[in-house]
Amino acid sequence: MQSALEVYKEMVLLYIEEARSFVNSQCAGLEPWQIIATTLLSTLGAVWLKGFLFQPESLTSRVKKQFFKIIRKIPFIGATIQNQLNKALDDMSVSLCTLKEGMSYTKLLPVQGLTHKQLLDKIREYETLSEVDWAKGKVSGAVYWGDEKLTDLLVKVYGEFAWSNPLHPDLFPGVRKMEAEVVRMACALFNGGPDSCGTVTSGGTESILMACKAYRDMAHERGIKHPEIIAPVSVHAAFDKAAHYFGMKLIHIPLDKKTMKVDVKAMRRAISRNTAMLVCSAPQFPHGIIDPIVEVAKLAVKYNIPFHVDACLGGFLIVFMEKAGFKLDPFDFRVKGVTSISADTHKYGYAPKGSSVVLYSDKKFRHYQYFVAPDWQGGIYASPSMAGSRPGGIIAACWATMMHMGEKGYVEATKKVIETARKIKAGSVLIFLYNNIILI
Ligand SMILES: *Cc1c(COP(=O)(O)O)cnc(C)c1O
Repeated sequence: MQSALEVYKEMVLLYIEEARSFVNSQCAGLEPWQIIATTLLSTLGAVWLKGFLFQPESLTSRVKKQFFKIIRKIPFIGATIQNQLNKALDDMSVSLCTLKEGMSYTKLLPVQGLTHKQLLDKIREYETLSEVDWAKGKVSGAVYWGDEKLTDLLVKVYGEFAWSNPLHPDLFPGVRKMEAEVVRMACALFNGGPDSCGTVTSGGTESILMACKAYRDMAHERGIKHPEIIAPVSVHAAFDKAAHYFGMKLIHIPLDKKTMKVDVKAMRRAISRNTAMLVCSAPQFPHGIIDPIVEVAKLAVKYNIPFHVDACLGGFLIVFMEKAGFKLDPFDFRVKGVTSISADTHKYGYAPKGSSVVLYSDKKFRHYQYFVAPDWQGGIYASPSMAGSRPGGIIAACWATMMHMGEKGYVEATKKVIETARKIKAGSVLIFLYNNIILI
């Protein structure tokens, strides 16, 4: 009796023998050089095909671009497109050009520098260019706080640190301490554990770039050659930028049509050997919706993938919502699987523009964010984020804003913002009902 294994082995040998005689019969009429040349060419062809098909930018996107490039080269069509483009550009520059009568652009350095008085007068001229009264709180999503007392305080604080640069912590230990404190306070707000950490950056975009860079380098270390970011289609364009800058591929996941939250099942299906990170927003910019962070975090834990929560826009609102009396599902480091969070101090943190934080649940992630050039001729060069020299004054002003607002100040502001938002929402529902009843 033959065992099953032996039967199996015999079958395999039979197949190999058949394949061998098939290949030999195919090559029967060929000379050796022909076989060698064919092998060489087909290997090169396969390598080229793989390189062509698998690139950070998807094949469809590349085909589309190529298609339009060719279309624009066709004489008549190309010229028409160019005319339309020029017209759009002209319209745009007319709408952006707000020079008033008698004004012009300064194109040369003044030979004799302006005096204090001349300069301040000149500044008034520039201020008259604005036609939007943002200082009275008439804009949304650009200026988050316009209180004059806070402005006065920040200008003083900036003045104290105007010449400081955290690139030289030995020279400016005060700024270093402030930066560390901004990060620690933010970690505490997002319920980070004792190993949580982070860095101050110049804004939401840089915070996002840094998290993506860290996870890309982590993926490279794990042997992933083409790291992919899996993010909702509603995620901020800074992730497109990160993918573009760092040679990653961004896979956009559709939203659930009813809730406008990311479709978690589709997200799971998109996970592959190349996945470097998962992303959710809390909340996202287009519709103000918070993605299902708890569910996505479960995927992150199951597949052992880093998970970034982009709380750039509303981070400094949502951390105070519970204290302000509004309930939210957990979205921060309390959720197992969340490994990093970006939150903009220069949005609802009410600090002046130019500051944000990127936070990590553990130091091992932040490690991948850092850059060191150990053998630079100018000495060992190390920096935590994109910039080299950084404005210490901005960090000081950010620190001062947080210290000045305090928990109470933020909770009060959060109450006002959310109450107003709910009022507008209720009002628009009423208007909607009213319009529809009239129509019926
Ligand atoms: C504003 C914003 C960002 C980017 O922040 P910048 O400070 O403009 O660089 C990222 N994500 C969301 C959701 C945002 O609203």
